[in-house]
Amino acid sequence: MTATTTQYDLVAVRCGCGREHAPTQPAGVPRAPVSYGPNLRALVVYLLVFQHLPVERAGQLVEAVTGAAPSPGFVHGMIARGAAAVAGTVEDIKESIKDVNVYPWCRGAQAGRSAGSDQPGDPLRARE
Ligand SMILES: [Zn+2]
Repeated sequence: MTATTTQYDLVAVRCGCGREHAPTQPAGVPRAPVSYGPNLRALVVYLLVFQHLPVERAGQLVEAVTGAAPSPGFVHGMIARGAAAVAGTVEDIKESIKDVNVYPWCRGAQAGRSAGSDQPGDPLRARE
C-alpha cells in the first residue's frame, strides 16, 4: 500500500482581455496547499477509533505503511472530521430507535437477574 501524490498546479493568469482567469478546483480536492485523499483519511480514522492507537503512533503507522507522513495535527484533526462525517448517520440511527421498546427482561438480564423474573408479559406477543 502506497500513497499516490497528485499535484494540481492551479495558476491564475491575466490575459490580453484584461481579465484574470483562474482554473476551478478539481472536485473533492480541498483548497489547501497539501491534502490527503479519502483512503488515507479513512485509514487514519480507523487506526484512531477502531484500533485505539494514539495520534502519534497512528501517524507513524500510516507513514510506515504508505510512505505519506501526515503531521500529528492532521491525524488529531481527523477525530473531529470523522465524527462530523458520521454525525448525520448517528442522528438517523438515534431517530430510528428512539421509539423502540426496551423490555424489562433486558434490564433484568443486565442486572444479573434471571430472565423473565420481572417480565410483565411476553414482549413478542405484545405486538400481536
Ligand atoms: Zn481573457
